[in-house]
Amino acid sequence: MTQKKTVTVLGSTGSIGGSTLDLVGRSPEKYRVVALTARRDVAGLAGQIEKFAPEFAVIADASLYKELKSRIGHSATELAAGPEALVEAGRRQSDWVMAAIVGAAGLAPTMAAVQRGASVALANKECLVCAGDLMMQAARAAGAKILPADSEHNAIFQVLEERNRDGLEKIILTASGGPFRDWPTDRMAAVTPAQAVDHPNWDMGAKISVDSATMMNKGLEIIEAYHLFAVPEDRIDVVVHPQSIIHSMVQYADGSVLAQMGSPDMRVPIAHTLGWPDRIHAPAKRLDFTDIAALTFEAPDENRFPALRLARNALMAGGNAPPLLNAANEIAVARFLEGQIGFLDIAALVDRVLTATPASAIGSLDDAVAADAEGRARALDFLDAGASARIAAAQGC
Ligand code: NAD
Ligand code: MG
Repeated sequence: MTQKKTVTVLGSTGSIGGSTLDLVGRSPEKYRVVALTARRDVAGLAGQIEKFAPEFAVIADASLYKELKSRIGHSATELAAGPEALVEAGRRQSDWVMAAIVGAAGLAPTMAAVQRGASVALANKECLVCAGDLMMQAARAAGAKILPADSEHNAIFQVLEERNRDGLEKIILTASGGPFRDWPTDRMAAVTPAQAVDHPNWDMGAKISVDSATMMNKGLEIIEAYHLFAVPEDRIDVVVHPQSIIHSMVQYADGSVLAQMGSPDMRVPIAHTLGWPDRIHAPAKRLDFTDIAALTFEAPDENRFPALRLARNALMAGGNAPPLLNAANEIAVARFLEGQIGFLDIAALVDRVLTATPASAIGSLDDAVAADAEGRARALDFLDAGASARIAAAQGC
């Protein structure tokens, strides 16, 4: 009998975490779960512990540890809480790790998995945006294999011919365009959080859904592609493809363009990373080309979606610009989801933070973490100043 593959899922209660465990749970004879982590979803995590009996489970919000403990009762699973325990989950020995925590919060635990030389399926693009050079260097040093799980990057990974790197002309990232693809700017000004998270093709967590609506997601993905595939920024194009059937393409010197296609179901790219270098079954709907009928393409509009330009500029600027962009965006999206700022304020806030912050180099993980903290602090300062100004205006001061 072949040995079971051991797997860890960081961010197991989210959209990607759930899709990953769906695949793992269909083949219990092939996989054994080592560690699971969640932020606040105690009930979700408790259910997963019951089903998968991991060695180790972490609730990031330590105030919920007692509740988790009482729900689980007596169990072979070791329970822990807090940021150090998240890192420990990444560090625990396992063959394959799904990095699916959302945001820069995933950086330290993902790094821990990379540094011990694991195969890391990377969904969490924000950690590459914050510290891409450092993470790719750490992977090379430790012999870790980074397997792109983001659908576009997984597509590129599937069609990129490593032996023909000299013949690679460009990478073409496809973008759905999100729910407001053809909306004029003035209409976007009044968008509600519910409208923004209602993505036409993909069912995803709230943060990435808003990022898709602003197209910041595609901006972050340009930076992600730059790090994953070591391709210069001017060879990474974006094309809007509203059907989300072609997940991305690579163009070669002879004019050939290779694309990967599939239905918009994250279990397809996740299964590719879980089975790699083999292929395993994924229960996703198969494409029916006669049913699809038309695949269409259009240029992205950086005037209506300025986040795309901001991200590209941050990549070209390098240093602290990408982590600042990411941090300001995380704050802005959270405030938008709370109903405190408007949809167009998201990119505007990111722009203000980038413009106001002096450039600095990122030489270490500490530098990346400091740039992230600075981006958050500046974004909050601008928001608080804006709120005070609005209150003052309302009071007629
Ligand atoms: P989600 O919000 O559904 O889930 C996030 C997971 O991370 C949850 O388990 C949550 O408990 C955990 N988490 C959140 N904040 C945390 C914190 N501060 N500390 C510890 N844990 C925390 O998000 P998602 O849609 O599954 O996305 C996860 C990542 O994958 C994101 O980086 C996203 O950009 C990327 N991604 C998602 C999709 C998708 O289809 N959902 C596609 C491509 C890439
Ligand atoms: Mg994507």
